[in-house]
Formats: sequence, structure tokens, C-alpha cells
Amino acid sequence: MAATAGILTDIEGTTTPIAFVHRTLFPFARTRMAAFIATHRTEPEVAAALAETEKLAPGRAPLDTLLGWMDQDAKVMPLKALQGLIWRDGYAAGELQSELYPDVAPALRRWHAGGLRLAVYSSGSVGAQRLLFGHAPEGDLTPLFAGFFDTATGAKREAASYGAIARALDLGPGTLLFLSDVEAELDAAMAAGLATCQLVRPADGTVASSRHQTAADFAAVSNRFGLR
Ligand SMILES: [Mg+2]
Repeated sequence: MAATAGILTDIEGTTTPIAFVHRTLFPFARTRMAAFIATHRTEPEVAAALAETEKLAPGRAPLDTLLGWMDQDAKVMPLKALQGLIWRDGYAAGELQSELYPDVAPALRRWHAGGLRLAVYSSGSVGAQRLLFGHAPEGDLTPLFAGFFDTATGAKREAASYGAIARALDLGPGTLLFLSDVEAELDAAMAAGLATCQLVRPADGTVASSRHQTAADFAAVSNRFGLR
């Protein structure tokens, strides 16, 4: 096995509880939606989202439509746009913090100090990734990362995506260790020649893979791969 030179990490189920979105982000947006619309309705991005909401549900007050969509957890573009704006403001105002498993920030700092190249690969946008790691309870962790990658680079279950990320980080695939909770993503990374380790977080109910190394937290990843 090649010595590890870089670590590429997934977010949900790996660095952050899967429940963070439902437990924190969604309620935060819901309680602020009415006031946010009242304050920002003339701003172009907000006005466009409200117009789109009215188009999708004619004859109904956009706020009622949006609250209904949130109750149903509907994946609708104007709702997602408004939620994103509310979260961005909340992070900037210090009213919203992301959540990392307690073993994550210490390990990232150790790995970075030890000279490893760190990067993030998530289906959430690069902008959302930067907000999440920039507003952690442990502080702004974005300076630790050499790269952020989302599905603009490719799908998470396709091997080509991982080859492209290794090249972008200027690392041989075999020296890059990919951390994720999802077996299909780990399979794709392995097919591209990356080293893999599955995070099996009890709180997330992850089922352990038989094809990949597994670890319960980032400290266990360090032990398994001989990292400091
Ligand atoms: Mg995940």
C-alpha cells in the first residue's frame, strides 16, 4: 500500500451527522422564512424565487406554499434557493453553526500539520461546503483544505470523478485516501485506484461494508492507516 499523501472526505455521515440537516438546517430556515421574505422580497434572487413559487402554485400566497413544501420536505428549486439564502445569512450572523463529530476537527488539524493534503467531496455545493467548514463550533476549518469538490466534477458513484480529483490535487490515486459512509462511493473510489475507508458512525446507523476498511471515527482512521 502506498503511503498516504492526501485525504479526501465526504461530509454527511462522515464528518457530520446525517441528522444535522433535519435537526438544525431545516428548522432554522422554517422559523425565519416569513421574516426573511418580508425583509428581502425586493432583492432580485428573492423576488425571482417568490415569482417561481407563485408560478408553481398559482392563486396561493407564496409563503403558505413555501411552508407547505417544507412540511412535505419537497425538493423544489425556489424553496432550495430561499433556504440557501437564509442559511448563508444565518452563518454570517453567527446564528447558525455547523456540526462536526467531535473526532473530526482534531484529526483534520493533525493531518494537515503532518503535511497531508486535505480535500472535501460532497454532493452539496462547494459554496455550502465552505459555509459548513467555515462555521464549525471548532472555528473556521477551511484553511486546512487544499480543495473542495462537488458534483460539477462528476457523480460520486463514478470512478472517473475520483481520478479527476486526484489529478486536481496533484496526487497519485494510490496515495489519496477517500473517507465516506456510502459503500457505492467507496467502490467507485477504489475502482479509480484510491485507498478507501468507510466511516461506520453508530449515530447514523451505517452498515459496515465487507469490501472496505472500516473505522468508527477519524482517530480510528489514523490508527488503521498509520497516520499521526
Ligand atoms: Mg455521506
